Amino acid sequence: MLTSGWKAVSMVDVHGKVTFTLWLCGCNLKCPFCHNWRIAEREECFELPRDAMLEELSSHSFLIDYFHITGGEPLMQWRELKGLLEDVKPLADVSLNTNLTIVGPLDELLKSGLVDHIATDIKAPPHELYGLPKNASRKLWELFLRGLRVVSEYSIPIELRIPVPKGFNVISWVEEALKHVNTDFYVVLNPLVGRPLTNPRDEEWCSRHCWPVEEVLKLKEFLENSGVRVYVSEYLLKNSEERSRLSGELSASEL
Ligand code: SF4
Repeated sequence: MLTSGWKAVSMVDVHGKVTFTLWLCGCNLKCPFCHNWRIAEREECFELPRDAMLEELSSHSFLIDYFHITGGEPLMQWRELKGLLEDVKPLADVSLNTNLTIVGPLDELLKSGLVDHIATDIKAPPHELYGLPKNASRKLWELFLRGLRVVSEYSIPIELRIPVPKGFNVISWVEEALKHVNTDFYVVLNPLVGRPLTNPRDEEWCSRHCWPVEEVLKLKEFLENSGVRVYVSEYLLKNSEERSRLSGELSASEL
């Protein structure tokens, strides 16, 4: 299977957890804000040296909460992934970061009991954030909602990430998505950021829709008023200008 590499100990890939993170190549979406687009496009990828990785996982397993698979979209290589997870499962619990639009293979993996935690994005508005034509985006959004229902049927906990763009009100999309979640979940708001912190696929799009502030605050308020547990990614707060604007609104204990 094609990978761009792994990290034996990561503190930033799942909220509040330590992970051994593996990046898998390929993706069915073209998100304009994607900063892993080279992995999604299968550039800088190589065949996974499976035994070497499993050996490293084995020696680090006592340190980690999850073996976390991300990408790209890991379910693009779901058959190979299933085989790998059969070897991983005796060593660690498994967290899968997926865009939830490849639903049949998702169901196969969950049915096999190989996944303990799901991380996914509410990418809204989908016709902007999927980076694909409107018709395709609408269908993919429906698949995503189905994916949320499938994960809920297996009672698997979800980290629901919201990549927050500037210039769009995404609350109605978020409301719609939450109606399809019927399992333990929390939300992480990831304000979209561009250079120098990341290298987005479409810099022109990012110049218009990255670095939100008001949108983050409104979404946070809406979610909290709805009784949802919500965290704000520290990414944006590393940028001095936005940090000073947001820090007046968010207390240190919320970050
Ligand atoms: S953000 Fe995720 S789903 Fe979107 S193109 Fe990048 S890897 Fe694929």
